[in-house]
Amino acid sequence: MAAKPVRVVIASHNRAKSREIWQLLTEGLCDLPVEIGLLSDYPNAPLPDEYATTYKENAAIKARACAEFTGEIALADDAGLEIDALNGQPGLHSRRFAGEQTPFSVKMGLLLERLRAVPDERRTARFRCAVAIATPEGDLYTFEDTLEGRIAHAPRGQHGFGYDPIFYLPALGCTVAELPPEFKNRISHRAKVMRQAIPQLRTIVQARLQRHV
Ligand code: IMP
Repeated sequence: MAAKPVRVVIASHNRAKSREIWQLLTEGLCDLPVEIGLLSDYPNAPLPDEYATTYKENAAIKARACAEFTGEIALADDAGLEIDALNGQPGLHSRRFAGEQTPFSVKMGLLLERLRAVPDERRTARFRCAVAIATPEGDLYTFEDTLEGRIAHAPRGQHGFGYDPIFYLPALGCTVAELPPEFKNRISHRAKVMRQAIPQLRTIVQARLQRHV
């Protein structure tokens, strides 16, 4: 009899981000009987506020809450944009920067305005992303990675989401929003941290499958 698929739930309400994680999980677990779920499959699932002081803690809070509610393995991420000339801002507050409901065109405009007089060599920045995996039994694993770049002088590109249009990659000569999605998903902060997390996730899934044979 074929093994019952193990379910892994992506603990995020952000559709663009969930799509990226979905793609990375699908590739990383393609040889295992895994079913990837979304938080939207669980209409009453809580998604706690992210008021911790590190990305890893924020990701852990979201993953734990999701694993407890769903009874499944949960994976959450927490990301932010750190701009060196602004002392690392917006950083952990990237989502709430200038107001949670404020369009990204406005948020990016505000950041560009603050950087107006800053020359290229001091426009260094990074996307930082933490991922947490939580199991319903209470195990927790966290990972973190970054993507280095610079803040552009104007938004460019139609792909991606969030701050992608102003995040310039000098080595590629374009912003992240100018990259086709499958290319972003090979080089991004999220792709890098998922490459760390997937071996751990595979171990957890394989242990579950063995328990159920
Ligand atoms: P959170 O991880 O959902 O809290 O994201 C924090 C903020 O950073 C949100 O405003 C996101 O839109 C933005 N963000 C997260 N990941 C990315 C990314 O890959 N590209 C651009 N912006 C991002």
